[in-house]
Amino acid sequence: LNPENSNLSNEDLDVEKKLRPLSFDDFTGQDQAIDNLKIFVEAANQRNEALDHTLFHGPPGLGKTTLAHILANELQVGIKVTSGPVLDKPGDLAGLLTNLEERDVLFIDEIHRLSPIVEEYLYSAMEDYKIDIMIESGPNARTVQINLEPFTLIGATTRSGLLTAPMRARFGISSRLHYYKTDLLTTIIQRSAQILNVPISMESAIEIAGRSRGTPRIANALLRRVRDFAQIKGNGTISIEIAKYALKALNVDAHGLDEMDNKILVTIIDKFKGGPVGLSTIATAVSENTETIEEVYEPFLIQQGFIMRTPRGREVTELAYKHLGRVKGKNHGE
Ligand code: ADP
Repeated sequence: LNPENSNLSNEDLDVEKKLRPLSFDDFTGQDQAIDNLKIFVEAANQRNEALDHTLFHGPPGLGKTTLAHILANELQVGIKVTSGPVLDKPGDLAGLLTNLEERDVLFIDEIHRLSPIVEEYLYSAMEDYKIDIMIESGPNARTVQINLEPFTLIGATTRSGLLTAPMRARFGISSRLHYYKTDLLTTIIQRSAQILNVPISMESAIEIAGRSRGTPRIANALLRRVRDFAQIKGNGTISIEIAKYALKALNVDAHGLDEMDNKILVTIIDKFKGGPVGLSTIATAVSENTETIEEVYEPFLIQQGFIMRTPRGREVTELAYKHLGRVKGKNHGE
């Protein structure tokens, strides 16, 4: 149930693909981002130009990869997919770039993890649709400049704070994705259940949605696991009884908080008397880096009302004490 792709089994990845919305109309939520993207796509289509380079940032599992595919579909162009850590030589990138057709999309996931050399190489491709490639070797080695077809680079990152300024400046469109409210996740779960052909009650969809950490990928993963319980322990329908039974068996937190979310709250309460405490101090105490806490964990904890940002640092709220079964002023394990 970890939101990162890498922890999904092959079967899960196949199902995830099946559940992926293919068009703007299929995509639920992120209204402001979608409304803008629709305009940019329509304008690019009318002018028959490549869409401007586009950056999606936000926590894992919110739809960045999905949107890259949707953009390619809506632009009616091809898409090539790669990721920052995979592209370790400029040559790999050159291979991809020279194979792009006019207006195609090149999607680079985890773009903050590109090596500096590859990143540098990407700049001229993005800016002038030109790259230098090395031909021949030994004494005859020389570089020649070749022209690329106009293309759209779509970058995705969970950690926009780690992108270099020159990289960021080369994206004409930049869009931040936000956590989904429970009603949107409920809609997503109902749509997924329909695709998976499993009957689900409204109440159950809401129950699962409320425990999905605001994240469609987690919502879909929970739905698949609850479906297994319905199939083996019930009659195949996801009733509220089955949903509650399964979520309990799966040990899912009542608010959908994950291990790190809870660790952050417990640390602020136990080590820092509930705060206020600075972000970097929290990061050190939970052995995570500051940007990850700030970009991946904190936004959800703030949105859900577990943490407050004050001028003197982060403070946990009454809700956090309640959630962890603590009493304010007690249980300070120092
Ligand atoms: P990211 O790239 O941000 O980590 P993905 O685009 O891979 O996230 O989304 C994870 C899964 O969540 C997708 O397979 C898709 O099925 C589902 N998903 C994401 N956003 C939505 C949405 N707005 N509506 C429906 N399903 C979504």
